[in-house]
Amino acid sequence: MKMTLSHDDLTFDRQHIWHPYTSMTNPLPCYPVVAADGVELVLEDGNRLIDGMSSWWAAIHGYNHPTLNAAVTEQLSKMSHVMFGGITHPAAIALCRKLLAITPKALECIFLADSGSVAVEVALKMALQYWQAKGEKRQRFLTLRHGYHGDTFGAMSVCDPQNSMHSLYQGYLPQHLFVESPSCRYGDEWQQDDIRPLSEALALHANSIAAVILEPIVQGAGGMRFYHPNYLKQARQLCDRYQVLLIADEIATGFGRTGKLFACEQAGITPDILCLGKALTGGYMTLSATLTRRHIADVIGSGEAGCFMHGPTFMGNPLACATACASLDLLAENRWQQQVEAIEAQLKVELMPLLAHPEVADVRVLGSIGVVETRHPVNMQNMQRFFVENGVWIRPFGKLIYLMPPYIIQAEQLRCLTSAIGNVLERNQMFNKV
Ligand code: PMP
Repeated sequence: MKMTLSHDDLTFDRQHIWHPYTSMTNPLPCYPVVAADGVELVLEDGNRLIDGMSSWWAAIHGYNHPTLNAAVTEQLSKMSHVMFGGITHPAAIALCRKLLAITPKALECIFLADSGSVAVEVALKMALQYWQAKGEKRQRFLTLRHGYHGDTFGAMSVCDPQNSMHSLYQGYLPQHLFVESPSCRYGDEWQQDDIRPLSEALALHANSIAAVILEPIVQGAGGMRFYHPNYLKQARQLCDRYQVLLIADEIATGFGRTGKLFACEQAGITPDILCLGKALTGGYMTLSATLTRRHIADVIGSGEAGCFMHGPTFMGNPLACATACASLDLLAENRWQQQVEAIEAQLKVELMPLLAHPEVADVRVLGSIGVVETRHPVNMQNMQRFFVENGVWIRPFGKLIYLMPPYIIQAEQLRCLTSAIGNVLERNQMFNKV
């Protein structure tokens, strides 16, 4: 395979290859990237972009990392893949040992799957099979508005009903229960009223609810909202009181992004089911893990099927597991904590002043996530081009311009990202104002 791209290649791409959430008929431009190294993406023309996205929360250690590269190469020389049915291997066992060592003690049983959305499907199925085995008809999920859990059908059905694909697939998607999302923000004074919608929904419907599913502390793709840890703490208490399972989707927040290794630690809670993905492999390849308690696994096993009914072809892929082990080893060196703290401090200093700008509705920072919410939707094409011309990779959506850089980013590189956001606000035609 050649590693350069001609004009022809890009035309082929436009004509034949779908990109995320894009029209095949009238696609937005795609920028040709031929390499990535450290915190930089290398464009076909040799220009380098400082990466503000970590490839959607994933590349926490940066790109082309020698330790991760070595782990892939070593595993590759032994075995890239082998089926997981009836077979086990050192990479999966090592990874699961490491995961158990860093997640809450009560979570003992791990299901490895191939993407975040599938981890969510697995979590929903675990909850459904659990109640089925107990002989209770609980088939609904309770969740929060502005949530996002993935693009497969089960995951879609628990995404925010307005801000997602519910209307498109109406009639096909199962109907679940939604409550207002928390309005009390991280860092604000706790308002006890905030939990009332969740508490009332549980009081009314607990007997038919299999689980509450939520993204702990940070609602990501559904709005980049950061909410108060007391909400999460009380959600846990309510689930205990009404004997409803709690699923924490840490696919975006896991592995240090919010300043804690897992966002659940912000509230000191243990979910019944935990979904991990994205940064699990340091962003090298796709892998997810769904963890649960022993007694939940036991109940599932006691049911009609006698086992948990899921088993993807690439379950426990050795290459992905070996890379994830190396990524967790890098995290264990524990530099991420200082790195994330430094990013948070700098994002606060450099983004908060943008609040004074008339186009800016809100600025918020948590851990290594910085969000500038604008008053008008961004013109994606124009803004993306401006960023690329200015040497940074920032991909806004809706009214959100946000940063979640690799933890290894240097202060000067981060400054390039924040100043690019400041500069874009001063330009014409960057927002859709009609
Ligand atoms: N849950 C959350 C919280 C996510 O942010 C995402 C991905 N953006 C997913 C689930 C789905 O993960 P994937 O794209 O790997 O299927």
